[in-house]
Amino acid sequence: MTNFSYVIIGSGIAGMSAALRLAEKKMGKVCIITKGPLISGSTPLAQGGISAVTNLKKDSYESHILDTMKAGQYTNNEKNVKILVESGKQIIEDLQRWGSIFAKKQHLEGGHSFPRIWNAKDRTGNNIAHALANNIVKHKNIIVQEHSAAFHLDIKKNIIFYRNFSLQQTFALHFNCLIIATGGYSSLYAASTSPPGNTGDAIAMAMQAGIITKELSKIQFHPTVLKKERFPRLLLTEAIRGAGGKIITADEKEIVNPLLPRDIVSHAVWKNEMNGKNIFLDARNITNFHEKFPFITNILLSEFQINPETDIIPITFGAHYCMGGIATNENAQTNIENIYAIGECANSGVHGENRLASNSLLEGLVFAKQAVDHILKNMGKNKTRFPADEKNKILYPLFISSDKPKEKIFFECIQNTLSQYVSIERTKENLQQAKNIFSKMKPVSTREENALFMALAIVEDCE
Ligand SMILES: Cc1cc2nc3c(=O)[nH]c(=O)nc-3n(C[C@H](O)[C@H](O)[C@H](O)COP(=O)(O)OP(=O)(O)OC[C@H]3O[C@@H](n4cnc5c(N)ncnc54)[C@H](O)[C@@H]3O)c2cc1C
Repeated sequence: MTNFSYVIIGSGIAGMSAALRLAEKKMGKVCIITKGPLISGSTPLAQGGISAVTNLKKDSYESHILDTMKAGQYTNNEKNVKILVESGKQIIEDLQRWGSIFAKKQHLEGGHSFPRIWNAKDRTGNNIAHALANNIVKHKNIIVQEHSAAFHLDIKKNIIFYRNFSLQQTFALHFNCLIIATGGYSSLYAASTSPPGNTGDAIAMAMQAGIITKELSKIQFHPTVLKKERFPRLLLTEAIRGAGGKIITADEKEIVNPLLPRDIVSHAVWKNEMNGKNIFLDARNITNFHEKFPFITNILLSEFQINPETDIIPITFGAHYCMGGIATNENAQTNIENIYAIGECANSGVHGENRLASNSLLEGLVFAKQAVDHILKNMGKNKTRFPADEKNKILYPLFISSDKPKEKIFFECIQNTLSQYVSIERTKENLQQAKNIFSKMKPVSTREENALFMALAIVEDCE
């Protein structure tokens, strides 16, 4: 077994930025365990950008706080919203120091009262992820275990177990401090904008170890998702509506003010679909769409033969972001000492009922910083000591591997059930129906077991 001072699970914006901050302080070795390659998760898919108040002459922290609270229906944790917003300027400077390049002009997005979205056109997440990864690979103190899924946590002995898919072996690491940064779980839904790996298995693992979660039923549905079969679905960024895009029926009637927060716009799309209408995003009035949204234009043209400058785009709503997650405080601490959770897997309360556009990349970065600052401040007070180092000993194979085609069917059953019965409007009967289906499912691998545990936890949180 190998010992690390810090183990981080997940290499999205939250995990990578936490690793860099720890390594920069040269306080010990950091190990990142990540299910995918180093650049993975929702982070590289993020399009619109990252919100931050940097023009204090025209914009203000108060305005960003108010926009965030309004979108969250004033149920947000106000203290944490303040930390989120007031850290924005420093965070943008840090990203630039790490090599992120942003467009000169910040743009406007739905729910924001000022154009404060820092962006790299419609590839912001990809740009940031590459900048962070370029720094990670240069740090001698950071070790990355790619294609490795954490699946079991022993909080008494401070051990995390993970399966390396390339080596087909199971490993265990001792940690002094663990940071969970494994993203959301919206890929438990059939129509999702997130990558297939975002199924919340690490959140299920944490829950089974005794870590407290909160508001797991709070899932945000994005209103402008391309209505074409694809996993993940192509997201048509909020910034298109910010630039003048409208949401219309086939006979070109606008159904909702496109600049309202996501939950309201999604509800309007859902309601019209329930009434049998097809809904479209109309971006034809946006001049030079292809220059402003090159990535989206490219995919629409090459994969779907849709020209956004001349055609209306068929849309639906899709599971996009999870407000619920591991319950954390202002320092990203969980209920277990030395275990932190950051980014989309955490529930820091900043989003309330509904996340404001472009606040989640910011959240990942801000609470990674909060966690690292707290860890460093409390250094030495930490009572945990490593047992004798038994180098790289491979543990017995805890992971029961499964037959892949069957695993696909298992996951599809969860995805279809959640999409059908636990979607935008949730009735008692539908929730019971979902529970009945889940109670009949028999997992044959840890992965399936964790996914089912998570799906049931979502339904139970709705009740
Ligand atoms: C299409 C799309 C567009 C978006 N656009 C924006 C935007 O413009 N602005 C904005 O603010 N937000 C946007 N979001 C949301 C934002 O991208 C995410 O909330 C944010 O990137 C989450 O970062 P994260 O680091 O918490 O998790 P992720 O980036 O999702 O990373 C999770 C990591 O955990 C790893 N992992 C998962 N499970 C395990 C496990 N069991 N063991 C080991 N590793 C594991 C994954 O491999 C991955 O590396 C968008 C999301 C999507 C899907």
